[in-house]
Amino acid sequence: VDKNVILYVEDLNLSFDGFKALNHLNLYINDGELRCLIGANGAGKTTLMDVITGKTQCDSGSVFFGQNQNLLNKDEAEIAQLGIGRKFQKPTVFEEQTVFDNLELSLKTDKGVLPTLFSRLTPTQIDRIDNVLHIIGLAKHRFMLAGALSHGQKQWLEIGMLLVSDPRLLLIDEPVAGMTPQETERTAELLTSLAGERTVIVVEHDMEFVRSIAKTVTVLHQGSVLAEGTMDQIQSNKDVIEVYLGEQ
Ligand code: ATP
Repeated sequence: VDKNVILYVEDLNLSFDGFKALNHLNLYINDGELRCLIGANGAGKTTLMDVITGKTQCDSGSVFFGQNQNLLNKDEAEIAQLGIGRKFQKPTVFEEQTVFDNLELSLKTDKGVLPTLFSRLTPTQIDRIDNVLHIIGLAKHRFMLAGALSHGQKQWLEIGMLLVSDPRLLLIDEPVAGMTPQETERTAELLTSLAGERTVIVVEHDMEFVRSIAKTVTVLHQGSVLAEGTMDQIQSNKDVIEVYLGEQ
């Protein structure tokens, strides 16, 4: 394997009652990449994320992360500890807590400490939270209750809640669904700025957004990779137009 590859998925298979949700799926993601995964409903995107993060067991195949870490013999908590963070589509912040406290609770949970706001943060931890607040653009809102944030700000906060534990790979599901155009633009900047230092995989249906962030796009169809390339290559690919883009 190329030493730049941080996530190596090979010949992954998973059937649900004979239906092949993942069908000989191969995917190689380079360290520092920002990759977008697209595909129609039921193409297997969520199932793939579930297998990578240990939420679902596959029937056969290989998933390796970083320096030969075999993810298939690890559970969800172990995989998270290796530095893989996942964000689901709906934001799940603690609405009754402030923005800062949400980040603090995530940081403490990550360290395996019982999450309480009463144990002290170290100066390093405070710096880390401050740094994340700036990255996600919520420094001015640190004392605001998370429940009072806009939908877009909640999504950024939840990304921040992953960032406090310094993940190497982030899996982000439909980040811009329901966002205003301004929030969408800000999210593109945020995700672009996160890549390089870390690796980001984004599942998204908004093609304009995908074009604005991804150098390489992977199209899933019936549990396999149908095509991979730049957005221009994808949008002029006959198979992709026929089974996916044509429907839109
Ligand atoms: P979407 O864009 O709607 O999120 P997707 O590409 O993420 O779609 P998946 O959610 O991975 O697609 O689903 C792939 C297929 O596997 C679907 O047909 C789904 O119904 C099926 N599937 C997923 N999980 C299960 C399960 N636990 N039991 C049975 N079938 C499942």
